[in-house]
Amino acid sequence: MTAKILVMPGDGVGPEICREAVRVLDALASDHGLDIELDEALVGGAAIDAEGDPLPEASLAAAREADAVLFGAIGGPAWDEQPRDKRPESGLLRLRSELGLFANLRPAILYPQLAHVSALKPEIVAGLDIMIVRELTGGIYFGKPSGLHTTASGRREAYNTMRYDEAEIDRIGRAAFDTARARSGRLCSVDKANVLDVSQLWRDVMNGLAGDYPDVELTHMYVDNAAMQLVRAPKQFDTVVTGNLFGDILSDAAAMLTGSIGMLPSASMDAAGKGLYEPVHGSAPDIAGQGVANPLAIILSVAMMLRYTLGRADLAAKVENAVGYALDRGLRTRDIMDDETQMASTQEMGGAIVDMLR
Ligand code: NAD
Repeated sequence: MTAKILVMPGDGVGPEICREAVRVLDALASDHGLDIELDEALVGGAAIDAEGDPLPEASLAAAREADAVLFGAIGGPAWDEQPRDKRPESGLLRLRSELGLFANLRPAILYPQLAHVSALKPEIVAGLDIMIVRELTGGIYFGKPSGLHTTASGRREAYNTMRYDEAEIDRIGRAAFDTARARSGRLCSVDKANVLDVSQLWRDVMNGLAGDYPDVELTHMYVDNAAMQLVRAPKQFDTVVTGNLFGDILSDAAAMLTGSIGMLPSASMDAAGKGLYEPVHGSAPDIAGQGVANPLAIILSVAMMLRYTLGRADLAAKVENAVGYALDRGLRTRDIMDDETQMASTQEMGGAIVDMLR
């Protein structure tokens, strides 16, 4: 069956890197029998400029209809002064929530060729391959009540609520156990069960699920220790599952172990396997239009799409291997290079991946 992929380039470097990702998809379609149909829609600042809305109805409808969304990046100084609901970022937040994308998968992989780019010693990070599964639509970012008011004594007071019900924990838990099963079979659940009731429930539900996954080894870690261990000995982790707030922080820390934001893909999935695939980085307004952005984060996001939505792990591996070969051959965009002479443009890097796929 033909899979429908919606491309949403967005702003800044978004369109430049999406162009390379589409070349990769086209090569897979023409040379490797990938059966896809591509469409494109406006989002972010580009959509505000064209239609006055960061997520126009037509874009949302197209995203609902698609099997997968390939998302570039959004935002930039031109829209920073807009009211919150008219900012580019609110388009992405609304898209994630309208599509029910509750599971965020963020791999932190350090290609051995780039071990020197990390701020940590190469022996600590070389060969790092962690998958962080973060709950994305619940927890303290969405819990009610929340608010800010002035108390009777005239002091301002603000509060948020960290809440999860067991069904929400169960579905992210299953997504994480499935992910761990497809990797090394090790899952570490991160919480703060020594202090928070919501974490105790989290831990109970995870322990309950373990019976359904006898082939996955489940361990638990408090979030403060997890933060420490990520920097001390990150290779002890394989798959990590955690809530929205802890995942937000830990996934950024894990990503930065790799030292190169231009290499990091991500996926946000619903219960039926539909996904929004995007690089971790933003629209990089400082380098937009210069042809120097690294397209590998979005190309690796295409690999995740192949694996998690399109059921083509074989092609995902081809794309990931092509990225490895390009690095072996010394190709480097500006963000990951250590010598001016080897610098490749966005288009050259994309072209090298396409050539290798062919
Ligand atoms: P950023 O990720 O855009 O850029 C941070 C730094 O990394 C910059 O120096 C940039 O040049 C560099 N960089 C980013 N992507 C790169 C790539 N592919 N190749 C080479 N270098 C790259 O973060 P920021 O500067 O904090 O934010 C810029 C804009 O992006 C803001 O408007 C922000 O709101 C938005 N943003 C969007 C998303 C998203 O679309 N999901 C995520 C984060 C930030």
